[in-house]
Amino acid sequence: MERLDRFMARANAAYYATHDPFHDFTTSPEITQVFGEILGAWAAVVWEQIRRPDPVLLVEAGPGRGTLMADALRTIRRVAPAFGEALRLHLLETSPRLRALQAERLPDATWHDGLETLPDGPLVLLANEFLDALPIRQFVRRGAEWRERFVEGGKFVEGGCTPSPTLPRFAGEGVSVRDPLSREAGEGWGGGATAPIAELNEPALAIAHTLGARLTAHPGAALFLDYGPEHSAPGDSLQALRDGQPVDPLADPGSADLTAHVDFAAFAAAARDAGAVTHGPLAQGIFLTRLGLFQRTDKLARTQPPARGMASIDAARRLAEPDRMGRLFKALALCSPGSPAPPGFEH
Ligand code: SAH
Repeated sequence: MERLDRFMARANAAYYATHDPFHDFTTSPEITQVFGEILGAWAAVVWEQIRRPDPVLLVEAGPGRGTLMADALRTIRRVAPAFGEALRLHLLETSPRLRALQAERLPDATWHDGLETLPDGPLVLLANEFLDALPIRQFVRRGAEWRERFVEGGKFVEGGCTPSPTLPRFAGEGVSVRDPLSREAGEGWGGGATAPIAELNEPALAIAHTLGARLTAHPGAALFLDYGPEHSAPGDSLQALRDGQPVDPLADPGSADLTAHVDFAAFAAAARDAGAVTHGPLAQGIFLTRLGLFQRTDKLARTQPPARGMASIDAARRLAEPDRMGRLFKALALCSPGSPAPPGFEH
């Protein structure tokens, strides 16, 4: 019997060590180069907003193939060469296989397993589909008590749980409690036909807390793009994809990528607890459109043969349209207290 987060951590470590994840799923930077380009422009504006620190860390968490950062750096060097000179590239990546791929495209980077070993100082951090890969715990409400979900023989089993005293907070809108297990079975959390399930991403909350503290000590901003609801909600969001198709997440660990929805409200609350200011979550479609996704795509398409140009325009639509990736995916920014709202989040 293994706690779900330990099962998920083990399964994903094995999966990323042995598979090309981009065979099983695709991500925004792999869909269009414009995604990384406009995030590069976003980072350049943020650098101006925090008064052009030199040196400054440019960090990406979970860079995959290195595509987003390669596209971002191309734009940075063109539109903000001074930022290009000032930045020091640091990548958070645990998979040796993906580190090797990243090194081919980003030879000047320094790699880390986590935030702890990053040098001190101002930073701009980007992360796309990083938090969804971090291991979650799940709890099921049975009458008056919460039971934790464990995995045994490819199936869920329920066991007793000990509340985690290390949690900074588990918060939905208007909820401020120390632990999901003390959460009242309020609207959506009880009384239905099926027992409510609460999810808890402890590594994500720890990252929010560490970044929040860091942004309070040094100027900077961190941008997270990922999928999940705007408000904390009950439900089992664990999923596995193989060849683009959903498969049983508990069967055959290490053969598929396991992800879960990001609880943006809890993540943002943990960052605010540590002193950061948060903006969003905002639907990815609105965020990217405000940053000029379609203008930039239009320019690119004019330089391409007609069929490629049409494909570029459709790729941009895929990222932005509400029934594709535009609504479920969200953008959330963590910023230093006192700094202006970053691009895309202004009211
Ligand atoms: N951002 C990329 C890749 C997303 S896949 C893209 O948009 O295409 C998730 C990435 O996070 C992979 O690079 C994976 O190896 C990395 N990753 C997963 N768990 C991690 C952890 N605990 N610490 C650092 N990187 C991790």
